[in-house]
Amino acid sequence: MDKKQLLEELKSEGFSEDIIKAFEQVKREDFVPENLKEFSYIDEPLSIGKGQTISQPYTIAFMLNLLELKDNLKILEIGSGSGYVLALINELSKNSKIYGIERIKELAEISREVLKNKNTEIVHGDGSKGLKQHALYDRILVSAAADKIPKKLLEQLNYNGILVIPVRNSIISIKKLYRENKIKEYPGFVFVPLIEE
Ligand code: SAH
Repeated sequence: MDKKQLLEELKSEGFSEDIIKAFEQVKREDFVPENLKEFSYIDEPLSIGKGQTISQPYTIAFMLNLLELKDNLKILEIGSGSGYVLALINELSKNSKIYGIERIKELAEISREVLKNKNTEIVHGDGSKGLKQHALYDRILVSAAADKIPKKLLEQLNYNGILVIPVRNSIISIKKLYRENKIKEYPGFVFVPLIEE
């Protein structure tokens, strides 16, 4: 599959034009190790080394859609890995503060280098309890699967903010409201585990 086919596929799955455009703008090959570059546009997860993967484009698009991105937000991605998702977020949300936290030092360093001209900041560390130093966030995306929703993440979310997090094999979206949070669950996904230290 080439990039054009991947974009067509995302289109046929009904994702918004903004999301398709972001996938068009960002070169997935820049985030993939040398030996896998020829597979950059298959709709599959790809290894980024250290036992970690860039998620499948469909899954990423699905999560980005749930995040309801717009401009002027403060956004955190936990498990930013290769930086690919951060680059997509950077396309979808202008004038925003975009943070990533990644526990594997080498990945944090590589992604920092690839994203050096983008409006993103990558912190090396354990994000299972969020990233307190820049809270509160308007959007939090977790890119690795937790066992349950970490309470700390909801505490670091603004009201009307959205948390998207895989819990075991479901993607959960939570909109934080003053009275009762709005929670939705979408089963049938696979993620690498969120390591809690
Ligand atoms: N979104 C990434 C890929 C995610 S793979 C991309 O676009 O490439 C999930 C990532 O979560 C892995 O890189 C893994 O090291 C990281 N991770 C797992 N547990 C973590 C934790 N507690 N804190 C920060 N990162 C974590």
